[in-house]
Amino acid sequence: MPSLLIQHGTILDPSQKLERKADLLLRDGRIASIGDDLGKADRVIDAAGCFVTPGLIDIHVHFREPGDEEEETIASGAAAAVAGGFTTVCCMPNTKPPLDNEAQIEFVCRESQRVGLANVFPVGAITKGREGKELAEIGSMHRRGAVAFSDDGVGVADPSVMRKALQYAKMFDTVLMQHCEEPSLSGGAMHAGLVSTTLGLAGIPAEAEQLMISRDLLLNRTIGCRYHVQHISTAWSVELIRQAKRDGQTWVTAEVAPHHLLLTDETCRTFDTNYKMNPPLRTAADLKACIAGVIDGTIDCLATDHAPHLAEEKELEFQFAPFGIIGLEGALALYAKALVEPGHIPWMKLIEMMTGRGARIVKLDKGTLREGADADVTIIDPNRPWTIDAEQFRSFSRNCPFHGSQVNARPTHTIVGGEVKWEL
Ligand SMILES: [Zn+2]
Ligand SMILES: [Zn+2]
Repeated sequence: MPSLLIQHGTILDPSQKLERKADLLLRDGRIASIGDDLGKADRVIDAAGCFVTPGLIDIHVHFREPGDEEEETIASGAAAAVAGGFTTVCCMPNTKPPLDNEAQIEFVCRESQRVGLANVFPVGAITKGREGKELAEIGSMHRRGAVAFSDDGVGVADPSVMRKALQYAKMFDTVLMQHCEEPSLSGGAMHAGLVSTTLGLAGIPAEAEQLMISRDLLLNRTIGCRYHVQHISTAWSVELIRQAKRDGQTWVTAEVAPHHLLLTDETCRTFDTNYKMNPPLRTAADLKACIAGVIDGTIDCLATDHAPHLAEEKELEFQFAPFGIIGLEGALALYAKALVEPGHIPWMKLIEMMTGRGARIVKLDKGTLREGADADVTIIDPNRPWTIDAEQFRSFSRNCPFHGSQVNARPTHTIVGGEVKWEL
């Protein structure tokens, strides 16, 4: 494998608290060294004016293979990932059939290797068929390479099933990721509030999310399984996680998606179904609380919840269109816009929340530029104004509410295992 020297950039590695101008040498798929005058290499990349960071990691994406390959495949999803600066992603199990057994887990791992772009790690289902009734084979899926477990798309509604899942997952020290939504309070198309009432659309109340989070925290309090709240969206959800952490529940983590940091339910007045996702866009107060949760460390990491859908499905009326938007190819710029550019957090923290934090949650030995680590590296230009253009995306889908948005930060090179997999 040719060696690669990245020159003149600013190394930004939260795992070593390193922020300084230096060169980075990659050799044989590993980080060889950081420093000055590192000698010759087969290829040299000039990263002047750019950050050189650990490869970005997104622990929450949906690739639609098997079952809906016209929306996204593992190959197209992995191509979208590297185009967004991501070297590692974890894909959710709500495929058709779902990833609820060893064979499905093996399929994703094999396909990820065959495609050879971003590393794609599977998340196994918590329950068989994601039906919430009977536990799936968590142990054997874990052995085959499932890095986490979730029934995403739905939460595990039955408390006795969830309790068993927490006890069982605890034995393997794996993480349960929950899509927190109490089904008896759900069924709407957008956030339940003033706007939904005005529009005459059925709403999903904030309590649907909060109720399941509080229930899970209570069930898990004495079990202590690693428990991760997916796509947190309400002010009180953030407060619940804050209190759990204050209470010493170190096994609790949470993520937030870019749209919940940038958009509110007011956008639904357009009836544009690219503003329809689950959890729904909430109020300005909720958005502010999510940002506060990022600032004070209540929210651990950033994830896109990249959810591709066909244009003809998204063209249905608001109440009938499917939930979800794609996110991988604009995420970095949108996070910078939501968090760094207004001065909420520095770049170092943003990169930490997009690399090492996610890696720790799913226990991957990644998200670092330490010598000997996998040579997964992203080069980022923080000052390169561009317009998000969904037509240019590698993803098979186009459902993106940020199409046409002016943003500033952009990945210029994505390097996986020492090989340049994407460059601007
Ligand atoms: Zn979800
Ligand atoms: Zn999801």
